[in-house]
Amino acid sequence: MQIDYFYPEYEVVRNKEKCTRCGLCVSQCSNHVHSYSEEHRRMITDDAKCVNCHRCVCVCPVGALKITGSNHQFKHNANWSRRTIMEIYSQAETGGVLLSSMGNPKDMPVYWDKILINASQVTNPSIDPLREPMETKVFLGSKPASIERDENGRIRNNLPPHIALDVPILFSAMSYGSISLNAHASLVHAAVDLGTCYNSGEGGLHDDFYRYSANTIIQVASGRFGVHKEYLEAGAAIEIKMGQGAKPGIGGHLPGNKIVGEISKTRMIPEGSDAISPAPHHDIYSIEDLRQLVYSLKEATGYKKPIIVKVAAVHNIASIASGIARSGADIIALDGFRGGTGAAPTRIRDNVGIPIELALASVDERLRQEGIRGNVSLIAGGSIRNSADVVKALALGADAVYIATGALVALGCHLCRGCHSGTCNWGIATQDPALVSRLDPEEGRRRLVNLVSAWTHEIKEMMGGMGINSIEALTGNRLMLRGVGLNAKELEVLGIMHAGE
Ligand code: SF4
Ligand code: SF4
Repeated sequence: MQIDYFYPEYEVVRNKEKCTRCGLCVSQCSNHVHSYSEEHRRMITDDAKCVNCHRCVCVCPVGALKITGSNHQFKHNANWSRRTIMEIYSQAETGGVLLSSMGNPKDMPVYWDKILINASQVTNPSIDPLREPMETKVFLGSKPASIERDENGRIRNNLPPHIALDVPILFSAMSYGSISLNAHASLVHAAVDLGTCYNSGEGGLHDDFYRYSANTIIQVASGRFGVHKEYLEAGAAIEIKMGQGAKPGIGGHLPGNKIVGEISKTRMIPEGSDAISPAPHHDIYSIEDLRQLVYSLKEATGYKKPIIVKVAAVHNIASIASGIARSGADIIALDGFRGGTGAAPTRIRDNVGIPIELALASVDERLRQEGIRGNVSLIAGGSIRNSADVVKALALGADAVYIATGALVALGCHLCRGCHSGTCNWGIATQDPALVSRLDPEEGRRRLVNLVSAWTHEIKEMMGGMGINSIEALTGNRLMLRGVGLNAKELEVLGIMHAGE
């Protein structure tokens, strides 16, 4: 007898009184959860196929649907959770590596939630952002060690290349292929409207987006997909991807069934072939090797573009960052272990790397101690969820932050963690034309602009409350932070005092 161990995780509850049998949930669910049975003359659901993406719940015109946990109970066991048991069933069945998407969902410490922000009271006045100017512009790149003047006392204008952003928030790398063209278009146009940058990710740059170079960061990853001279010149900056917070130490894999049409053309690989990014760059095994690539890219682009090196937050991140800062790179992007991904082995995603808060604080401190903090700007990413996280990241030492999961949520993502399946019902992590068309790029642009504008407004209010009127004065200003419920070692690494001190 064949036993099915995989009983449903979710239960789709249909209110039969409300349901008009309009069929919208049937047509909208790419996982084929809903159907109409002619034989029984009623709507039926296949709970086992539900990934809890909430598409049907949102489109149902009469609010007839609800998704709940299936509530099948294992005998309570603090060591063997339902998830652990189901994962073993899955691997016992397939013999394969567990795959998942988006960020680490485990209940690990979120230090942002254990850090509080200061506010002015009585002795140091706060600033009203509605009446006084607040500077949110940031410049990312290497800063000169000293100001040089010509014989007339004018400052020599030979600064290293940099990116100027109107807000300290950039859209992080998401490749065309891992997300849809309409999702990319939403990010591109929102970046233009907001005066910031989006990031091509490692899949090359679609022809439609070459004209937005001032707002584009192009990425060079270990697979070198889509990399050619025009591509390198198409961005305001070039990012070398050495690692990603969601999967430190391993490469990437976009399955051949997603390498179709324009994606194959953009990546410059044949249709249907798997796009496998090796774990290491095969020409980089030391900081000296990295330096060679940094200068190759500078040479190829006339020393006009800042070079970003993106690394995952790992144990010795401060030493690694010190090496990168000496490699000639202009910007370091640090990606924490809660960062999202289109696909990653579940065990790696959930167990490798360190939180961005600790990595950022230790890198900023190390670079200051070594007197090389001005060599590079720092971008922090990996689960920045709201404007308070942004303010805390800046005060811990970041010059700007990367957001990706938050941006996708703004586009409609419901964090079902099924991106690797390619059947995203929200038109984001899919290449199915019918699904892609569900995401209107203009609507996506509007929602992203609203999100970042709202966050920027809140950042100004928090800065005003602290009596600070520019991002530059906030960056690395750890006196503005206090910890709650943190032990002495955590406070030491974060470089902040405990609340009440
Ligand atoms: S979308 Fe709502 S009303 Fe229409 S068939 Fe589905 S549950 Fe019923
Ligand atoms: S992008 Fe789509 S598939 Fe991925 S988590 Fe969000 S809703 Fe699910």
